[in-house]
Amino acid sequence: MRLLLVEDEIDIQGFLRRSLQEAGYEVEVAPDAKTAEQLAVESQFDILVVDLGLPDRDGISLILRLRELGLRAPVLILSARRSVDDRVRGLEQGGDDYLTKPFALAELLARLRNLLKRNSPQASEATRLRVLDLELDLLRREATRSGQALQLTQQEFVLLEYLCRNAGRVVTRSMILDQVWGMRIQPDTNVVDVHIYRLRGKVDGAGQQPLIRTMRGVGYVLKDR
Ligand code: CA
Repeated sequence: MRLLLVEDEIDIQGFLRRSLQEAGYEVEVAPDAKTAEQLAVESQFDILVVDLGLPDRDGISLILRLRELGLRAPVLILSARRSVDDRVRGLEQGGDDYLTKPFALAELLARLRNLLKRNSPQASEATRLRVLDLELDLLRREATRSGQALQLTQQEFVLLEYLCRNAGRVVTRSMILDQVWGMRIQPDTNVVDVHIYRLRGKVDGAGQQPLIRTMRGVGYVLKDR
């Protein structure tokens, strides 16, 4: 697996390069956005780890630029910025996952494995999604919770599928509008809230552990543990 590490802090850079190599990655390091862009254009990477505070440019604008250039590989954002706003912004603007510094190496490695798994051809061909006791059959378009069938509309199924694919991560209303309804700009509508409300009524029925959580002012997250 080829990994591009974009990080300017020498200590973290050295530590991560060694650790990632030990974990079996072939690591290229870019200390700034300019070098990262060059490397990404010249060769193919399976995954990227990008620090947001770079000397020449913001990591987010680097990610946007790489996406413009056709980068498909998943990007894990690494940053000292801990606020919810920063995380949401990072995820909305082309990052696939977000880890705040300081972080545990084991968690970084686990997240990289997850991103690679999600992006692998087998994953996209998977016909079943499972999150805790929730299971989606993507071919039959059927959902069950604890083995009990859920009566979902087509739209609710698509919404639940999107939540499942992002289980454990916050998805914002505008991400949902974009991915489920194909709307880029958030119109003045409560369509997401209404659908979430109905979906929750079906998924989190009486006596069930609630899976769909509201993150006030931010969006929603489907619990995965
Ligand atoms: Ca930095």
